[in-house]
Amino acid sequence: MGARVGVLGGGQLGRMLALAGYPLGLEFRFLDPAAGASAGQVAELWVGDYEDGPLLERFAEGLDRVTLEFENVPLAALHKLVPRLPVYPPPQALEVAQDRLGEKTFFRRLGIPTPLFHPVESYADLLEGLERVGCPALLKTRRLGYDGKGQLLLREPAQAQEAWATLGGVPLILEAFVPFRRELSILGVRSARGELAFYPLVENHHRRGILHKSLAPAPQAEALQPRAEALARRVMEALGYVGLLAIEFFEVEGELWANEMAPRVHNSGHWTIEGAETSQFENHLRAVLGWPLGSTAPRGHAAMLNLVGLRPDFTRVLEIPGAHLHWYGKAVRPGRKVGHVTLRSDSAAVLAERLEQLEHLLSAVVPPVE
Ligand code: AMP
Repeated sequence: MGARVGVLGGGQLGRMLALAGYPLGLEFRFLDPAAGASAGQVAELWVGDYEDGPLLERFAEGLDRVTLEFENVPLAALHKLVPRLPVYPPPQALEVAQDRLGEKTFFRRLGIPTPLFHPVESYADLLEGLERVGCPALLKTRRLGYDGKGQLLLREPAQAQEAWATLGGVPLILEAFVPFRRELSILGVRSARGELAFYPLVENHHRRGILHKSLAPAPQAEALQPRAEALARRVMEALGYVGLLAIEFFEVEGELWANEMAPRVHNSGHWTIEGAETSQFENHLRAVLGWPLGSTAPRGHAAMLNLVGLRPDFTRVLEIPGAHLHWYGKAVRPGRKVGHVTLRSDSAAVLAERLEQLEHLLSAVVPPVE
């Protein structure tokens, strides 16, 4: 009889967790407020509110572990579950990751470089922040922002009033706009037994604040790998972390500055399904179950492209040698991640050619009009 894993959140990350857990004999129960959540196509889905206490109690019955695939699960829900069964990652990791100000303060406390930042609760704070961090600067909501949502770029102080009118009223953070060379992320995994493993750094490219493409392993990043691992280890050990953790960095003059972390499996790790010896999804499950971790070694070179608000002709995608299509079974809407394609090859040159072919194909797909 396999272990029974409860998962808070039932989106595509949950769906891919379940698909990775079935070969290990695991059973899954998902909880999501949305009846159409895509994990429901492959596993048992409970539809309900994370803050419904009696529902959570019933949800936990018969489960061996609870994990999550959505980092904005209310902390109260986790605290309700913790006395009943092991909940990983631990609530303190979510508490840090749910608030951009708390997260950046936490990084700084651990000696991890970040962009300059300033808390903003009032218009006066915003003006003070602009003096301190300079322009250009990014004004972001502290909570519930993702994929570039809840963010405004201020090119000059004269834009302060307009930015305040748009975002003001909720707690904000102002950050210096970092002239980074590129964006990199590291995925670390720590098991309930304290075993640690790291995937190679990944190079990420965004479009309109949404991850567009990941290259794995990141080209010419071997020299940065030990530093990234040391920083991620610091974070995981400080939090008593269990599970997979992603940290997004800006590369600035050969140093890594932390932008944010995600206490869950991460979009920049989707390439590991075909491109690594053990996928991030499987290793997350092994970690929360206290099982030995699998090798994180890459299998050649991989590139992952997100399908955002479009459905390509599957046949044409699959015609590309080494292409692996993942479709999440979601309705296509502008700006919505509905699938991804991973290309894998033993040769970096061959991969680059096929990536160009795939990008060309996807750029010709006309997205639906809303
Ligand atoms: P976030 O929601 O913080 O991950 O931001 C989404 C994207 O906006 C990042 O991946 C970067 O491309 C960009 N971005 C966020 N913060 C900064 C910053 N302080 N300086 C430059 N670019 C940023």
